[in-house]
Amino acid sequence: MNDFISDGKKTWRLVRNRISEIFEENNKALRDNDSHKKIVLFTMDEVEMQLPVQIGDYTDFFSSKEHASNVGTMLRGADKALLPNWLHMPVAYHGRSSSVIPSGTPIHRPQGQTLLKGTETPILEPSKYIDFELEMAFITTDANLLGEPIPINEAEEYIFGMVLSNDWSARDIQKWESDPLGPFLAKNFASSISPWIVTMDALEPFRIESPKQNPKPLPYLKQEGKCSFDINLQATIIPENSVTTTLTTTNFKHLYWSIAQQLTHHTINGCSVKSGDLMGSGTISGSTPDSYGSMLELTWGGKNSIILNDGTSRKFIEDNDTVTITGFCEKNNLRIGFGEVHTKLLPVFQSKKK
Ligand code: CA
Repeated sequence: MNDFISDGKKTWRLVRNRISEIFEENNKALRDNDSHKKIVLFTMDEVEMQLPVQIGDYTDFFSSKEHASNVGTMLRGADKALLPNWLHMPVAYHGRSSSVIPSGTPIHRPQGQTLLKGTETPILEPSKYIDFELEMAFITTDANLLGEPIPINEAEEYIFGMVLSNDWSARDIQKWESDPLGPFLAKNFASSISPWIVTMDALEPFRIESPKQNPKPLPYLKQEGKCSFDINLQATIIPENSVTTTLTTTNFKHLYWSIAQQLTHHTINGCSVKSGDLMGSGTISGSTPDSYGSMLELTWGGKNSIILNDGTSRKFIEDNDTVTITGFCEKNNLRIGFGEVHTKLLPVFQSKKK
């Protein structure tokens, strides 16, 4: 869809409105025309979902105050939970687009360097602490020339829509490798997204206030009005041949930094943004323990076990578990679904070559 997205908001709106008109329940034009329906409609089993865009660049923010505080508390203690820059800008790192995959694509447990407790020399082994990260991500259009910042009041014009995202993480690899340059192989082995992009026009009825920002952000990040969206989010787990357990229930509205602030900050130095770039929100945690967006937080660094509905327990994700993230907006009998992103974790890759 990159070329379509490049055409800009005017085109997106015209096409969306026309499709909406065709499928409006009182419109008989297609509804009562069986021969046309045979041509234009497909059943779900005829369709294989793929990535909706060719993703050029992938940036992952860290915009949930609750998530950043939880992780910071585990690493540095409650009094130093947030680093000094966090409340002044939406911090992020550059991820990897080659391993962004659509829902339904299984992944292998990665191997990597880890440092076992009480040792000083790392070993290479399959990660023991595979985690999901419940996120959403937005997809941009061509937004600016190299060198040109995007003003905050224009940022949403360049955002096509949003998807669900599971930013897979290997916590033991992350812990050993992240100093001083941040995550690398702990994060770039897989990031799963839902295949349907929900456009910003569709999300308009679900606008909601962002959390209050204190201290006030610098003027280039200052935003008025309802800057966030009320999107219900859930993550579940199913072990192989077993039953579903809900791991967490949270909401996009908890994010401290808005998507407009993220895009504006991303381009304040003149970094150019292209059609099909993917911008992750970072793990979305709420304020209560049943709303945390990762196993790292739900089990508090693996200290506590989660008992699943089949009686087994988890500290992190195990081989052949499937993690599914779903999302929807609902208000005044209007409901919009994001579908889902589900991913099965397979055992570590075994080469077939002899
Ligand atoms: Ca992430």
